[in-house]
Amino acid sequence: MNSKRILLVDDSEETRNFIAQKILAPEGYHVQVAIHPQEALAQLQQFSPDLIISDHSMPGMTGLEFLKSLREAGRQTPFILMTAESSESLAVEALRLGAQDYFRKPFQIDTFLKAVTRLLMPTPAPALLHQSSSPILCIDAQARLRFWNQAAQQHLSPGKALVMGQPLSECDAGDELLSLLEEQEGSYSRAELETAQKTFSVDLNQASDGSRVLVLHDISSLRELDKLKSDFVSAVSHDLRSPLTTILGYVDLMRRVGPLNESQQKFADNIVMNVKSITELLTDLLDLSKIEAGFEANFEPVYLDAIIRHTVEAQRGELSQKAHKLELQLQDNIPAVQGSPTRLRQVVQNLIQNAIKYTPPGGHVKVHLHRDQRFVVLQVTDTGIGIPPEEQALIWDKFYRAQAAVSDFPGTGLGLAIVKGIIDQHGGRIWVESVPNQGSTFSVMLEGIDE
Ligand code: ADP
Repeated sequence: MNSKRILLVDDSEETRNFIAQKILAPEGYHVQVAIHPQEALAQLQQFSPDLIISDHSMPGMTGLEFLKSLREAGRQTPFILMTAESSESLAVEALRLGAQDYFRKPFQIDTFLKAVTRLLMPTPAPALLHQSSSPILCIDAQARLRFWNQAAQQHLSPGKALVMGQPLSECDAGDELLSLLEEQEGSYSRAELETAQKTFSVDLNQASDGSRVLVLHDISSLRELDKLKSDFVSAVSHDLRSPLTTILGYVDLMRRVGPLNESQQKFADNIVMNVKSITELLTDLLDLSKIEAGFEANFEPVYLDAIIRHTVEAQRGELSQKAHKLELQLQDNIPAVQGSPTRLRQVVQNLIQNAIKYTPPGGHVKVHLHRDQRFVVLQVTDTGIGIPPEEQALIWDKFYRAQAAVSDFPGTGLGLAIVKGIIDQHGGRIWVESVPNQGSTFSVMLEGIDE
């Protein structure tokens, strides 16, 4: 026995009786009828149907107006509009207002019944999907709910019961989910969703008819672990700095109580040099953990051209030591970007230092700043050793150093991880184009502030 309830609204008695008694009742549906929308609205006070089927042209209120008033009152019951007119704009308007289907009279009973069945018994999902502890959602091409399991109800809309056919935007996490869908590229993609309590990795699959399946995996514990790791690194980096300061202090004392002979002097210099490079490494690690943690309250308008000029001045020594030619191309009237001056200085400094470092003596380093529509684009180009294509995606990882760099150039592999972290934090993009033994161009794109 089918216990689904349908409210049928039509001012023509003949149509009403035919649809209710000849089409729907034999399928076992419980049908209640109303002769116009006002009566239907009154009935809805006591009767809560699983589906509303309504005619369009009726005295007093049209089917569309009825649908609109239902949706405005927050009622998301699936709705089928029937009409005698053949009007495409009416159909579009009905779907826009949230109708699930549209039938022009006379219609084929089979097709009509199929639509009713589809709306009332949506996706015959196996019990397993319902019981899955991972939230699973299916939506149609208009982003209206077609299937959800208990976990989806619990995690994505704890405050509001999900309703068949309801626009996704109306569930609690709807806006966040919709923005993931907007960013989806291709038929499959993966994105992250933060809800009040949890972090999910969301698998998005799109079918050829535009409907989509979202499967969410709870990665809150991985997040927690990642945070613990970062906290640990940050605590260790912090605590190691004091003993290092003490070591430097003792080396200094040794020299003062000296005199040291030539070898002792050389050993002392080595100690100082190594302690300095450990300190730099620790500073980078601390910086990275701060950037990953997302602290950075004070964003302000920052002019990149000024930062570039300062950085280049500070690098004059290294540039002339390696006999590099420097070319500065800074377009006039570049807008400021909203950001942290200290962090953006780190970006410019890292990119220019790398260009100098990874270019054999007598090379050419070019720093170019220009505007591209609403974006400010910084490009640092060198004629250095380059990066092979297979390593280009890896250089942004912590501690990664390209094969060609490891033996010949000093470094920790943290600089670009810091740069990438900062650019992400500023909502920008960074990428590299590079040819081994010819050179590299690192480009950064940040949104300019409208004047
Ligand atoms: P580091 O320079 O300390 O090794 P980075 O994170 O700044 O660390 O860079 C990561 C790796 O990317 C470098 O080890 C090097 O292999 C490569 N790289 C970065 N900049 C350049 C460049 N301008 N030219 C060639 N390789 C580069």
